[in-house]
Amino acid sequence: MQRTLAMHMKNNGTKNSFFQSLLDRKTFTLTYELVPGRGAGGKKIDRLLEFAHRANKDGRITALSITDNAGGHPSLAPVAIGSEIQRIGLEPLIHFSLKDKNRNQIESHLFLYQRKRFHNLLILGGDFPKATYYGQAKPVYDLDSIQTIQLIERMKAGHYRHVHGNNPHALPFSFQCGCVVSPFKMTEAEQVWQYAKLLKKIRAGATFIITQVGYDLKKYEELVRFLSDHKVRIPVLANVFIPSPAVAKFMAQGGVPGILLPPALADLMQSEKKEDRLLRAAGMAAGLRKLGFAGIHLGGNGLDFDDVALVLDQAEELYKKDAIAPAGIDFPIAHGWSLYRPKGKQHNRLHPGTRPGARPLHHLVHRLLFSGTNPLSISFAAFCRLCDRHTISRRLLIFAERIIKEILFNCRMCGDCTLPESTYLCPQSGCPKKLVNGPCGGSNGGRCEVFPDRRCFYVRVYLRLDQKTTLEDLAGAPILPPKDWSLEHSSSWINYFQGRDHTTPKAD
Ligand code: SF4
Repeated sequence: MQRTLAMHMKNNGTKNSFFQSLLDRKTFTLTYELVPGRGAGGKKIDRLLEFAHRANKDGRITALSITDNAGGHPSLAPVAIGSEIQRIGLEPLIHFSLKDKNRNQIESHLFLYQRKRFHNLLILGGDFPKATYYGQAKPVYDLDSIQTIQLIERMKAGHYRHVHGNNPHALPFSFQCGCVVSPFKMTEAEQVWQYAKLLKKIRAGATFIITQVGYDLKKYEELVRFLSDHKVRIPVLANVFIPSPAVAKFMAQGGVPGILLPPALADLMQSEKKEDRLLRAAGMAAGLRKLGFAGIHLGGNGLDFDDVALVLDQAEELYKKDAIAPAGIDFPIAHGWSLYRPKGKQHNRLHPGTRPGARPLHHLVHRLLFSGTNPLSISFAAFCRLCDRHTISRRLLIFAERIIKEILFNCRMCGDCTLPESTYLCPQSGCPKKLVNGPCGGSNGGRCEVFPDRRCFYVRVYLRLDQKTTLEDLAGAPILPPKDWSLEHSSSWINYFQGRDHTTPKAD
């Protein structure tokens, strides 16, 4: 898992100050998150640009990140503010959210960002789209974050699409892909999945990490230890968010998917002055620097550059004086689950597979029909291939598959069945984001971000796993490719035996 980060800089034709700063172990990298709202201009945009001018003059912040339809709401596309920030002289870090983009739009945006000479993308699934024009927007999630990072890496390596051009002045296609992890999950299943998926994202090509927002220092420490144990050397930025009292209350009530702000902290913030919140953030920044994070990803609402400058001044002073008081900055998650035991080097024991349900039976039937080695499977394969030769027999088989799998698995007939990879639970009907490579970060207390009355699909998967499954098994599982939408409503049985589904590797 050890990464040679210098390799990632090799093809980079232009200077990427943000990533160079991350690679320089002596530098503590600072970024700040800008959130463009609805509309192309106005006071909010003026304030963002004013912030960028001040930050550039100040010189401590290396990159400004720009959110992409944050919170599932439509807003000014990040390319607009990103270009202006670049002109001002700062490095933009573009959030690349997948909730609103299909794979064509993803490529199209990559070409746009290539043309704009952006270097850094933060790849994330994004919050489920909210109701807007005529109601709920269609959630896309055509590729997940792992598949998108993989696509970018293949394009960089020249294995897919011609992106470097023939002339000596070709535009660089040298994006550094960041990814997100939450060490702040409450349940074992969610936390184990977060770490396993992080390792998969790194395997796909992520070169830096930004954490979810959190206020539990022990969990930050756990992440550092987990990465060290797994010999992950890529830089990690800790996310320090300074909410207004109203936003803190909203977050504490679970209003922002995936963020756990302890109610005690939200209550405290109601009676505090702004300066108290800024000083707490400074203490956190200094404390996290001591823990070994490569930098801080700062954010907040209702802040101007003077506020952020105060945080940076104070953080530097506290760090230099080694005067960090954990009491005022550490707000543990109540009943949170930890990967490590409080003392000693051991992991806590994992408990996957406590509710296996019908998985063992489904697994047995699957092996009998699809292994391709026993007589029943050989006959079933021949039967499916025969049915595929004629329209009527193919339709009859599709009808039979639809009835059987609708009853057993709530099947949506996607045509490329991944049931065996998800303990015989269907991600197409079970996960609102239809994720096939692990969960998003939006769950809360084991509950789904989109349907809080339901268990997160991947928590259910975890409870059905073989009991011997380890975190490393989950992380090392093959990365499933994007779905081929031409298979929709066809027979996954035929597609499997005819080599049309994901089990048969495709050429680019
Ligand atoms: S064919 Fe697709 S929709 Fe049907 S059970 Fe399998 S994964 Fe789910």
